[in-house]
Amino acid sequence: MGRRKLVVGNWKMNGLRAQLPEIAAIGELAGQHPAVEVGLCVPATLIEAASGVSGAAFIGGQDCHQKASGAHTGCVSAAMLKEAGAGWVIVGHSERRMDQGETDADIAAKALAARAEGLKVILCVGESLDVRDAGNAESVVSAQLLASLPEGAAADWLAIAYEPIWAIGTGRIPTMEAVETMHVALRAALATKIGAEADGMRILYGGSMNGENAAELMAIADVDGGLVGGASLTAGKFAPVIAAA
Ligand code: PGA
Repeated sequence: MGRRKLVVGNWKMNGLRAQLPEIAAIGELAGQHPAVEVGLCVPATLIEAASGVSGAAFIGGQDCHQKASGAHTGCVSAAMLKEAGAGWVIVGHSERRMDQGETDADIAAKALAARAEGLKVILCVGESLDVRDAGNAESVVSAQLLASLPEGAAADWLAIAYEPIWAIGTGRIPTMEAVETMHVALRAALATKIGAEADGMRILYGGSMNGENAAELMAIADVDGGLVGGASLTAGKFAPVIAAA
């Protein structure tokens, strides 16, 4: 055990240079909570400037291409993110799985491409409301996780984010029991593939995490932090989430 809490803001398609003071303020918050690993995944265009002001908070990207270079108009490689100042990258967010049609195999390949450049990776999984209502969320998300898991997955470079799609940006979250059951199931699924390494791998919760619910969510034994969208956009909203970790 002994997993250090990881709290990461996902700014999605938000953030211009005008928000750099907010990033600096979040960096200061990170410095005030050294026990927690804090980061912000910002738009690719902001990574370089954000890295200059983010202090104790790491900066990450929100996606990378699985190839190192080539004819892929509009895409960004892991090496490009790294050169701009990213230390981490999110792969497999449900918005990309849906909007860009990314498959589990694509996501595993993206994670490997990131790893090859020395980036750490947050791999996202989560169920739709239909799957949740059908009562088989744990088996579906476990299968999704194993299908997206890159070769050589290890706790020192990979974290998992469990994000129920129906909880993202909606203000709705699962019950604490449901979160606990899912995180236990995902760790057990990881163990079938990577053995004892699963004990050290951080599994974050994401989906409408905020200052009101973060303490309860992060008190769950297998919840090792959060991937936070809306509540990470200002230092004021992000502060109680970081403090709860
Ligand atoms: P939310 O987004 O906190 O705004 O629900 C979380 C995410 O999509 O990573």
